Amino acid sequence: MLNLVLFGPPGAGKGTQSENLIKKYQLTHISTGDLFRKHLGEGTELGKLAQKYMDQGNLVPDDVVIGMVEDKIKDHLDGKGFIFDGFPRTVAQAESLDKMLSEHGLSISLMVSLEVPEDELRTRIKERAKTSGRVDDQDDDKITNRIQVYQKETTPVAAYYKDQSKFHGIHGVGTISGIFDKICSVVDTHK
Ligand code: AMP
Repeated sequence: MLNLVLFGPPGAGKGTQSENLIKKYQLTHISTGDLFRKHLGEGTELGKLAQKYMDQGNLVPDDVVIGMVEDKIKDHLDGKGFIFDGFPRTVAQAESLDKMLSEHGLSISLMVSLEVPEDELRTRIKERAKTSGRVDDQDDDKITNRIQVYQKETTPVAAYYKDQSKFHGIHGVGTISGIFDKICSVVDTHK
């Protein structure tokens, strides 16, 4: 199995690149943001719980996220692998993910981190806001908070995978297909 963590700040292009990677490597996509938005749209209890965190750009508590991911992993163990998009976002989530996978004899193959300067992130999120309908894309304070939360709570996750020699940084500015080619060459070398 190829189990890939696609990492990077909000607006780095994780969702866009995930779509291409899923097709090429036939992976199961686990995007915690998308899963929460689905719950939100369906008005589930989980969606209601997540909404107050999401609307402000704060992280949903670890136990909620981890439980949701665990269910999804269990449902797709017969596939070719997973692409984790927007997860793990804390070191506690990364540790839980390793534990969940090892219970099924699996592990993370590699992490690809999309590196994009902050001004470019803001430009992209504002562009996306025109069509995404996402409350958290709409105003500067929320975008600033998401970037700060990423820097404070999520960047330590990169060090976690560096310690396991699984971290690969990629410059995430350029054409979508150019960045995709760079990701694929890293994946093909390290899978
Ligand atoms: P995203 O679509 O990945 O930008 O996620 C949108 C929002 O969902 C985030 O700002 C968080 O509020 C929540 N969220 C998504 N993934 C996670 C996660 N792994 N841990 C905590 N909160 C998350």
